[in-house]
Amino acid sequence: MFAAPYHLRGAKDAHEFGYGRDANPTWSALETALGSLEGGTSLVFASGMAAVAAVLFTVLKPGDKLVAAGDGYPGVRFIATERLAPTGVEVQFVSTNTEEIVAAADGARLVWIETPSNPKLDVCDIAAISAAAHKAGALVAVDNTLATPLGQQPLALGADISMMSGTKTLSGHSDVLVGAVSTRDGELVEALRRWRSQSGSVIGAMEAWLVHRSLATLALRLERSSAGALAVAGALRERGIEVYHPSDHAESAQMHQYGCLVGFVLESEARAQDVLARCELVAEATSFGGVHATAERRERWGTDDVPPGFIRYSAGIEDPEDLVADLLRALS
Ligand code: PLP
Repeated sequence: MFAAPYHLRGAKDAHEFGYGRDANPTWSALETALGSLEGGTSLVFASGMAAVAAVLFTVLKPGDKLVAAGDGYPGVRFIATERLAPTGVEVQFVSTNTEEIVAAADGARLVWIETPSNPKLDVCDIAAISAAAHKAGALVAVDNTLATPLGQQPLALGADISMMSGTKTLSGHSDVLVGAVSTRDGELVEALRRWRSQSGSVIGAMEAWLVHRSLATLALRLERSSAGALAVAGALRERGIEVYHPSDHAESAQMHQYGCLVGFVLESEARAQDVLARCELVAEATSFGGVHATAERRERWGTDDVPPGFIRYSAGIEDPEDLVADLLRALS
């Protein structure tokens, strides 16, 4: 619903909706749907990074320790080092490796994991990490962007918080920025709601409506793009190319779908750029999870520990056989 202020007669809480930075009926519809998928209460934000910031700034205070994925989405590392560490939050980066994360959880207030992680698609055990972190008195937040709640449900596996950039597969059409945070902790929901109003990190009504409508096809899109990425991974492996895919890890047994991504390594920057240019079904673009296949040479950002020829490939909802044929033709 498009409204900044709502009709509000009398007391400030006489109506559920008073001002558009606090609440909006279209957000509510989207949040109800997301909450039922995540198995908790969901709040939507202006972007994935707005959702990340909401969790980090709501949960952590000076003196707390944050354990965070050092090999995940770089935006989380940037907030941790540029915004949190200077205020006295102790930051420890770990790899997406179950044992390493469990060992670091001791003394932490928050353990932030991303599984599968980006861009190398490592997978860690949410249930084992949650059990160990809770014993150590820490909360666990999972970046569930790639899998979406149809691919894995972090809250059901024991995590305290599930966060998503819905900009990717959740909305799926590469036309909206959106973030979401889900939890079963009622106090945390209220604290996050207050943060959203205070920071103004709100999504527009039109965007919320688009995301809500896109949920109707999420299952179909996720299934198809997961099949596409798996087919591409198999075809590249058969040709002796180094491939990164969540199925490489035993922990992926916790997942219902692997998601749309596959990583692979070509011999050089020039070769990778050449192959990208020759693909007819793949647009060179960052991000992932759209209905059309996209790919990029991830090293171009300078934020990830990958070789120059590393390509992150996002399968769309094209026929997996077409995607494989297109890529193999480009490679040859
Ligand atoms: N988390 C992951 C895994 C991402 O890939 C991204 C974006 O690329 C984000 C968080 C941040 O999301 P947004 O771009 O919607 O702010």
